[in-house]
Amino acid sequence: MMGSDAAAPEVRRCAGCGQAAAVCVADWQHTSMGMRSGASTRDFACQACGRRFTLVPKLRIWVWGVSAVLFVWTCVLGVVFGGIAAWQAWPWHANPVVPGAAMPALRFRADIPVRRCGSCGGTASCRQVTAKRSSGIPTGTDHAFECSGCGTRFTTTSVWGHVMLWLGRLVSAVRNPLIAAPIER
Ligand SMILES: [Zn+2]
Ligand SMILES: [Zn+2]
Repeated sequence: MMGSDAAAPEVRRCAGCGQAAAVCVADWQHTSMGMRSGASTRDFACQACGRRFTLVPKLRIWVWGVSAVLFVWTCVLGVVFGGIAAWQAWPWHANPVVPGAAMPALRFRADIPVRRCGSCGGTASCRQVTAKRSSGIPTGTDHAFECSGCGTRFTTTSVWGHVMLWLGRLVSAVRNPLIAAPIER
Protein backbone atom coordinates (compact mmCIF):
# COMPACT_ATOMS: atom_id res chain seq x y z
CA MET A 1 0.00 0.00 0.00
CA MET A 2 1.49 3.31 -1.07
CA GLY A 3 0.55 6.43 0.81
CA SER A 4 -0.92 9.00 -1.54
CA ASP A 5 0.65 12.06 0.03
CA ALA A 6 1.08 13.82 -3.29
CA ALA A 7 -1.21 16.77 -2.77
CA ALA A 8 -2.67 17.26 -6.23
CA PRO A 9 -5.16 20.10 -5.95
CA GLU A 10 -8.47 18.37 -5.50
CA VAL A 11 -11.52 20.40 -6.45
CA ARG A 12 -14.93 19.04 -5.48
CA ARG A 13 -18.41 19.99 -6.56
CA CYS A 14 -20.24 21.81 -3.78
CA ALA A 15 -23.51 20.16 -2.77
CA GLY A 16 -24.86 23.58 -1.80
CA CYS A 17 -24.37 25.71 -4.91
CA GLY A 18 -23.37 23.03 -7.47
CA GLN A 19 -20.16 24.79 -8.49
CA ALA A 20 -16.77 23.08 -8.78
CA ALA A 21 -15.30 25.30 -6.10
CA ALA A 22 -14.85 23.25 -2.91
CA VAL A 23 -11.21 22.82 -1.91
CA CYS A 24 -9.40 21.36 1.09
CA VAL A 25 -8.59 24.09 3.61
CA ALA A 26 -7.34 21.97 6.53
CA ASP A 27 -5.75 18.54 6.56
CA TRP A 28 -5.71 16.93 10.00
CA GLN A 29 -3.10 14.18 9.87
CA HIS A 30 -3.94 11.19 12.01
CA THR A 31 -1.25 9.83 14.29
CA SER A 32 -1.28 6.52 16.05
CA MET A 33 1.16 6.03 18.97
CA GLY A 34 3.03 9.09 17.79
CA MET A 35 3.41 7.79 14.23
CA ARG A 36 1.65 9.25 11.23
CA SER A 37 -0.90 6.72 10.11
CA GLY A 38 -1.23 8.16 6.61
CA ALA A 39 -4.94 8.80 7.12
CA SER A 40 -6.27 12.28 7.52
CA THR A 41 -9.51 14.10 8.12
CA ARG A 42 -9.93 16.93 5.63
CA ASP A 43 -12.00 20.07 6.04
CA PHE A 44 -13.31 21.53 2.78
CA ALA A 45 -14.74 24.95 2.10
CA CYS A 46 -16.65 25.97 -1.02
CA GLN A 47 -14.95 29.07 -2.38
CA ALA A 48 -18.15 30.14 -4.14
CA CYS A 49 -20.71 30.03 -1.32
CA GLY A 50 -18.66 29.34 1.81
CA ARG A 51 -20.33 26.01 2.59
CA ARG A 52 -18.11 23.67 4.63
CA PHE A 53 -17.93 19.90 4.92
CA THR A 54 -15.53 17.34 6.34
CA LEU A 55 -14.24 14.14 4.77
CA VAL A 56 -13.18 11.49 7.27
CA PRO A 57 -10.97 8.58 6.11
CA LYS A 58 -12.96 5.98 4.19
CA LEU A 59 -11.42 3.28 6.38
CA ARG A 60 -13.18 4.76 9.38
CA ILE A 61 -16.52 4.74 7.54
CA TRP A 62 -15.92 1.06 6.73
CA VAL A 63 -15.28 0.34 10.41
CA TRP A 64 -18.63 1.91 11.31
CA GLY A 65 -20.34 0.04 8.46
CA VAL A 66 -18.88 -3.32 9.50
CA SER A 67 -19.81 -2.58 13.11
CA ALA A 68 -23.38 -1.93 11.97
CA VAL A 69 -23.48 -5.36 10.29
CA LEU A 70 -21.93 -7.09 13.31
CA PHE A 71 -24.35 -5.46 15.72
CA VAL A 72 -27.42 -5.59 13.49
CA TRP A 73 -28.89 -8.25 15.80
CA THR A 74 -29.05 -5.68 18.59
CA CYS A 75 -31.15 -3.41 16.34
CA VAL A 76 -30.31 -0.26 18.29
CA LEU A 77 -26.51 -0.42 17.84
CA GLY A 78 -26.93 -1.57 14.25
CA VAL A 79 -29.02 1.49 13.45
CA VAL A 80 -26.69 3.82 15.39
CA PHE A 81 -23.50 2.51 13.73
CA GLY A 82 -25.18 2.41 10.31
CA GLY A 83 -26.37 5.96 10.82
CA ILE A 84 -22.86 7.14 11.69
CA ALA A 85 -21.43 5.36 8.62
CA ALA A 86 -24.06 6.94 6.36
CA TRP A 87 -23.55 10.36 7.97
CA GLN A 88 -19.78 10.21 7.38
CA ALA A 89 -20.08 8.73 3.88
CA TRP A 90 -22.60 11.34 2.71
CA PRO A 91 -20.14 14.22 2.02
CA TRP A 92 -18.02 11.86 -0.14
CA HIS A 93 -21.05 11.28 -2.40
CA ALA A 94 -22.63 14.72 -2.20
CA ASN A 95 -19.43 16.56 -3.13
CA PRO A 96 -17.75 14.54 -5.94
CA VAL A 97 -14.30 15.35 -7.31
CA VAL A 98 -14.37 17.38 -10.52
CA PRO A 99 -11.40 16.16 -12.61
CA GLY A 100 -9.36 18.90 -14.19
CA ALA A 101 -11.28 21.70 -12.51
CA ALA A 102 -9.37 24.96 -12.11
CA MET A 103 -8.28 25.86 -8.60
CA PRO A 104 -10.63 28.63 -7.43
CA ALA A 105 -9.34 31.78 -5.73
CA LEU A 106 -9.25 31.25 -1.99
CA ARG A 107 -11.90 33.32 -0.25
CA PHE A 108 -12.82 31.00 2.60
CA ARG A 109 -10.00 29.55 4.63
CA ALA A 110 -9.62 26.98 7.34
CA ASP A 111 -12.00 27.22 10.25
CA ILE A 112 -9.31 26.32 12.78
CA PRO A 113 -10.38 26.86 16.39
CA VAL A 114 -8.65 29.75 18.14
CA ARG A 115 -8.58 30.59 21.85
CA ARG A 116 -7.12 33.33 24.00
CA CYS A 117 -3.97 32.37 25.89
CA GLY A 118 -4.40 32.48 29.67
CA SER A 119 -0.75 33.41 30.27
CA CYS A 120 -0.10 36.33 27.93
CA GLY A 121 -3.50 37.11 26.42
CA GLY A 122 -2.23 36.26 22.94
CA THR A 123 -3.87 34.06 20.35
CA ALA A 124 -3.54 30.29 20.63
CA SER A 125 -4.54 28.23 17.62
CA CYS A 126 -5.42 24.56 17.51
CA ARG A 127 -2.47 22.29 16.66
CA GLN A 128 -3.92 18.84 17.13
CA VAL A 129 -7.30 17.19 17.48
CA THR A 130 -7.57 13.95 19.41
CA ALA A 131 -10.67 11.80 19.20
CA LYS A 132 -10.72 9.66 22.32
CA ARG A 133 -12.28 6.29 22.78
CA SER A 134 -13.11 4.08 25.70
CA SER A 135 -13.88 0.45 24.79
CA GLY A 136 -14.49 1.61 21.23
CA ILE A 137 -17.07 4.20 22.24
CA PRO A 138 -16.19 7.79 21.29
CA THR A 139 -15.70 9.76 24.49
CA GLY A 140 -15.20 13.20 23.04
CA THR A 141 -12.53 15.25 21.39
CA ASP A 142 -9.44 16.95 22.79
CA HIS A 143 -8.22 20.13 21.13
CA ALA A 144 -4.56 20.91 21.79
CA PHE A 145 -3.74 24.62 21.51
CA GLU A 146 -0.43 26.41 21.30
CA CYS A 147 0.00 30.12 21.93
CA SER A 148 1.82 31.90 19.11
CA GLY A 149 3.10 34.52 21.56
CA CYS A 150 4.55 32.69 24.57
CA GLY A 151 4.35 29.06 23.42
CA THR A 152 2.03 27.97 26.22
CA ARG A 153 0.19 24.74 25.42
CA PHE A 154 -3.16 23.67 26.78
CA THR A 155 -5.86 21.16 25.93
CA THR A 156 -9.62 21.48 25.97
CA THR A 157 -12.04 18.56 26.16
CA SER A 158 -15.47 18.63 24.60
CA VAL A 159 -18.49 18.60 26.92
CA TRP A 160 -19.65 15.45 25.14
CA GLY A 161 -16.43 13.79 26.36
CA HIS A 162 -17.23 14.54 29.99
CA VAL A 163 -20.75 13.18 29.56
CA MET A 164 -19.56 9.96 27.89
CA LEU A 165 -16.78 9.45 30.43
CA TRP A 166 -19.29 9.85 33.25
CA LEU A 167 -21.73 7.45 31.58
CA GLY A 168 -18.92 4.95 30.99
CA ARG A 169 -17.93 5.05 34.63
CA LEU A 170 -21.54 4.62 35.66
CA VAL A 171 -21.92 1.57 33.42
CA SER A 172 -18.67 -0.02 34.61
CA ALA A 173 -19.62 0.75 38.21
CA VAL A 174 -22.87 -1.14 37.74
CA ARG A 175 -21.21 -4.05 35.95
CA ASN A 176 -18.23 -4.35 38.30
CA PRO A 177 -19.40 -3.32 41.76
CA LEU A 178 -16.25 -4.69 43.41
CA ILE A 179 -13.88 -2.39 41.55
CA ALA A 180 -16.19 0.59 41.37
CA ALA A 181 -14.28 3.78 41.96
CA PRO A 182 -15.90 6.91 43.35
CA ILE A 183 -17.12 9.10 40.52
CA GLU A 184 -15.08 12.24 40.40
CA ARG A 185 -16.94 15.55 40.42
ZN1 LIG B 1 -20.95 26.20 -2.77
ZN1 LIG C 1 0.57 33.10 25.47
